[in-house]
Amino acid sequence: MRWQTIEKSPGADALAPNLADYERTRAGFSWAEARGELDGLPGGRGLNIAHEAVDHHAAGTRRDHLALRWLGANGEVRDFSYGRLAELSNRFANVLQALKVGKGEGVFALTGRIPELYVAALGTLKNGSLFCPLFSAFGPEPVHARMSIGEARVLVTTPALYRSRVAGLRERLPRLEHVLLVGGGAAAQDVPGTRDLDSLMAGASAEFVIPPTDPEDWALLHFTSGTTGRPKGAIHVHAAVLVHHLTGRYALDLHPEDVFWCTADPGWVTGTSYGIIAPLTNGVTSIVDEEEFEPERWYGILQDQKVTVWYTAPTAIRMLMKYGDELARHYDLSRLRFLASVGEPLNPEAVVWGAEAFGHPFHDNWWQTETGGIMISNYAAMAVKPGSMGKPLPGVEAAVVRRREDGGIDTLAPGEQGELALRPGWPSMFRGYLHEEARYEKCFAGGWYLTGDLARCDEDGYFWFVGRADDLIKSSGHLIGPFEVESVLMEHPAVAEAGVIGKPDPMAGEVVKAFVALKPGIDPDEALRRELLGFARKRLGAVAPRELDFQPSLPKTRSGKIMRRLLKARELGLPEGDLSTLEAEK
Ligand code: ATP
Ligand code: MG
Repeated sequence: MRWQTIEKSPGADALAPNLADYERTRAGFSWAEARGELDGLPGGRGLNIAHEAVDHHAAGTRRDHLALRWLGANGEVRDFSYGRLAELSNRFANVLQALKVGKGEGVFALTGRIPELYVAALGTLKNGSLFCPLFSAFGPEPVHARMSIGEARVLVTTPALYRSRVAGLRERLPRLEHVLLVGGGAAAQDVPGTRDLDSLMAGASAEFVIPPTDPEDWALLHFTSGTTGRPKGAIHVHAAVLVHHLTGRYALDLHPEDVFWCTADPGWVTGTSYGIIAPLTNGVTSIVDEEEFEPERWYGILQDQKVTVWYTAPTAIRMLMKYGDELARHYDLSRLRFLASVGEPLNPEAVVWGAEAFGHPFHDNWWQTETGGIMISNYAAMAVKPGSMGKPLPGVEAAVVRRREDGGIDTLAPGEQGELALRPGWPSMFRGYLHEEARYEKCFAGGWYLTGDLARCDEDGYFWFVGRADDLIKSSGHLIGPFEVESVLMEHPAVAEAGVIGKPDPMAGEVVKAFVALKPGIDPDEALRRELLGFARKRLGAVAPRELDFQPSLPKTRSGKIMRRLLKARELGLPEGDLSTLEAEK
């Protein structure tokens, strides 16, 4: 192996299992027993995410502990203790009650990262309604499509977003009864067809008794990122909180005194599972930054807020790498203890860069909208193999499988490449794609949930991401995962980002074509193109890219995933497909 295993992160706690403990924990693990970790609604009235996230702490010694610190774009800072969050979410639940919004009914949010979003999410969960966050950068059509599928009855948004995204669609959303505007003050009261949330909140009681909640009651609706096609609406239930809670501890190493920063957009599943639920159920302080990525601002937050645990995504890490570690050295990042990444394969280069720039490697972990929470992870107390996603969470059975012609499933041996599969039964597993029964059924075969991702497992039980099943390249009898090729290109000092596709070829079936974005200040030219192709050939041999184009940046989803299907469609002059989640291209 070219990359050295990195011993466990200094300071990582033994709370998360090391390899020996991991096997023991795994062997004796049962979800039913783990349920004892959670409080449950008083009087045995079930399990509710918001109760575990805020009321449980507000009723105990952590009432005054800082739950959420919001950093506004204008420099304003707003702090919320657990007690305050409990009270505000009670008010929001009472607002829903007054509007006669009931169990399972859709409450959507279309806002930036503002405190009201967190309050609305928790209040909706308390009320037993179905919460669905949307990316605030969505245009009107993606907003409409998702609100129609989710049969939204309530929308929480801002006056500006309402005017630009929703007002014109109102007639096409006959089920949408209540639009609640945040932070518009007096101005909000003048927008026809809407209500001012601030005054509704002020008039609502701060007391609320969460109604009995069955762990199987619907809680969250999350749309997938749309990386491979039309986004699907995955339904999650209240029982999912068990996974959020445990993965917060095991995979993110959260401890009560931690200051945690999850940089995910709230419109993406990570923004809910790890931007709201996991940190709160674990009782930590969570940082919410209203602004978008900007290297100096981000380093400044890590320093000034004394962030100890940081959960981010490969795109952001690659951007920081672009600016070099000199910039990181200008800041005091000594409080950082644990770094984790999700959303895309994390190139080994980036893991090692983290170890150099921050003194801690990034811990990659893998999951999907469908899984609701982290499933595979480089645990805190476990050695990190750069480039590997890690090992399954105790209670999660993962395997690399191949679908047989007859519909059966074969489990593959270590080293073999196949589809990553999970044994259904973990509590945060999605319970369906809303209104898409057939698409849901297709995810299961032979007693497994098939993830659509390709992977292999090594002798030590670490899983390695190969690519998405849709992105696999078949060239002259080789099966090539784009990730390996991209990671090699990333090792070249001029490369900031790489995306690789298969391009049809009469001789080879497909040839590997790479798209590369360069680091700032480096100009693309023919010599560099040849150098990069040679660099990759030396390391990869026959599976190296045959063609390479430069691009200022690569097309990505709003959750930061490289859209290889779009690179491919453009290369081949094919229709571009669903672009609702495409991030504006620079
Ligand atoms: P869609 O399903 O609509 O095509 P999507 O799969 O990108 O979009 P998400 O559920 O947000 O939507 O993303 C999950 C996917 O992201 C995983 O299936 C996997 O392909 C990729 N992914 C997430 N984490 C990792 C990781 N650590 N390493 C590699 N890939 C990852
Ligand atoms: Mg997917």
